[in-house]
Amino acid sequence: MSLLQVKDVTHAYASSTLFWQSKRHAPVLSGVSLTIEPGKCLGLLGTSGAGKSTLGKVILGLEKPQKGQVLFQGMNLYDTDASARRRLRRDLQVVFQDCYSSVNPRMTAEQIIGEPLQNYESLSSKEQKRTVGELLERVGLNADDMTKHPHQFSGGQLQRINIARAIALKPKLIVLDEAVSSLDMVTQSHILALLSDLKSTYGLSYLFITHDIKAAYSISDALAVMEKGEVVEFCEDKAQFLQS
Ligand code: ADP
Ligand code: ADP
Repeated sequence: MSLLQVKDVTHAYASSTLFWQSKRHAPVLSGVSLTIEPGKCLGLLGTSGAGKSTLGKVILGLEKPQKGQVLFQGMNLYDTDASARRRLRRDLQVVFQDCYSSVNPRMTAEQIIGEPLQNYESLSSKEQKRTVGELLERVGLNADDMTKHPHQFSGGQLQRINIARAIALKPKLIVLDEAVSSLDMVTQSHILALLSDLKSTYGLSYLFITHDIKAAYSISDALAVMEKGEVVEFCEDKAQFLQS
């Protein structure tokens, strides 16, 4: 069974925040279908405004589409009760492009990485500290970095912290939305190597959203291209992509 199936999804953003008005903008996703297999990375390519981030949000359960289905491990993401959604939510994690704005500047690395553990696991503070230390080492940082604040890290180090937070609950799928795009080339290749390593060790799946075909090609197994809200190309094997 596919880990994720997006079936014929159409979505338009609400144009009014007034709840009694149901006006919507033109659709930004039209009839989108794709699949992600367990342990595989799907690279999602397309120019800015194509609808990639919106599709990412739909897959994370953050934007309910007007039409179509999102099946995660066979379960309909938008048609489950609250407790099932909470379970699904921990299996679905995200890392965004802007590593500084996705963390609270007043929190320490320990608090940032420990937050999902705190929300979902009932660990003693000693166990939690040990787990955070292991996670820091797993992403190539040091347990001594625990007490540092975001401004004390480089962009690449902070993205490692975001990755540590994303894997803390051992998720099945991570949406990486332009997660390496603002890093320099060398740092980018280090983070891509870390992501590939985590993927092969833990059988993680990724949706790797990017406008950068080289980065997508290097990490992905499958590739999809979006244009103006539609998936115009979907190759389950990236080798087919070069031939098309
Ligand atoms: P991409 O990630 O490919 O750059 P996006 O999904 O961010 O594309 O955006 C697709 C379209 O949806 C764009 O035209 C954008 O302006 C619009 N859009 C994105 N977010 C919102 C929102 N919250 N409300 C209204 N329109 C939005
Ligand atoms: P150890 O044997 O010391 O726990 P691991 O390399 O197995 O070392 O794990 C290091 C960290 O990676 C752990 O703290 C754990 O939270 C995280 N981890 C372990 N399994 C998974 C998984 N399936 N997915 C994501 N992260 C994981």
